[in-house]
Amino acid sequence: MTPDRLDRFARHIVLPELGGAGQERLARAHVVLVGMGGIGNPALQYLAGAGIGRLTLIDDDVIEASNLQRQTLFSPDQAGEAKVAVAAAWAARFDPVLEVVAQRVRIGAGNAADLLAGADVVLDGSDNFATRLAVADACVALGVPLTSAALGRFQGQVANFAGHLPDEACYRCFVGDAFDADDCDSCADLGVLGAMVGMVGAFAAMHALRVVLAGVATLGDPQWGQLHVLDGLAPGLRRMRIAKDPDCRTCG
Ligand SMILES: [Zn+2]
Repeated sequence: MTPDRLDRFARHIVLPELGGAGQERLARAHVVLVGMGGIGNPALQYLAGAGIGRLTLIDDDVIEASNLQRQTLFSPDQAGEAKVAVAAAWAARFDPVLEVVAQRVRIGAGNAADLLAGADVVLDGSDNFATRLAVADACVALGVPLTSAALGRFQGQVANFAGHLPDEACYRCFVGDAFDADDCDSCADLGVLGAMVGMVGAFAAMHALRVVLAGVATLGDPQWGQLHVLDGLAPGLRRMRIAKDPDCRTCG
């Protein structure tokens, strides 16, 4: 690492749970973020801040005024612009060393394998089950770990999945087959508090870092198949184990 990188990441490197070896691993990592909305915004900020070397951002949406109470990378004058383009421009300013690729495309079963191949981990913060299942299925097929993050009102759910491994559940083991239809449990219907979605996005970023650091630093404990349920009102955090479904059509 160059002196300016050592300086930038000094507060990481002194952490025994991360250290210099961990920081170097982060710099070599490729993380794909699906969805540049309320979860993707803070997740990008903290993954870029962590020094992830290569970030691919996937989203086909444009910025709207009603996004701004939770999508804090954006500003009113950017209404109508592509979220991925604005987010990638932010990341390039934030750390010019990072390699950032913006993919303005809707990810689905037809293109997910191409878009996700080669990632060390995929962080999915998209807002509907059809996308989440397409991403999750592609991750299993590619052997790529998945950090899944979702939010409903004041309940957040974050988990790491490695369904390509023989004893670990995939996302479909968790939610089943009932949600492949292109419906949406969207924020427009339910409402969402910006600070709550920020908490879930930052939690998801931390979870993706655990995956990247596995085998390199003690922070690298992916906790596969452990669903973390955040209650923003209490507040509280519960944890439950998701078992691999032997009849799962994706990983069983
Ligand atoms: Zn499965």
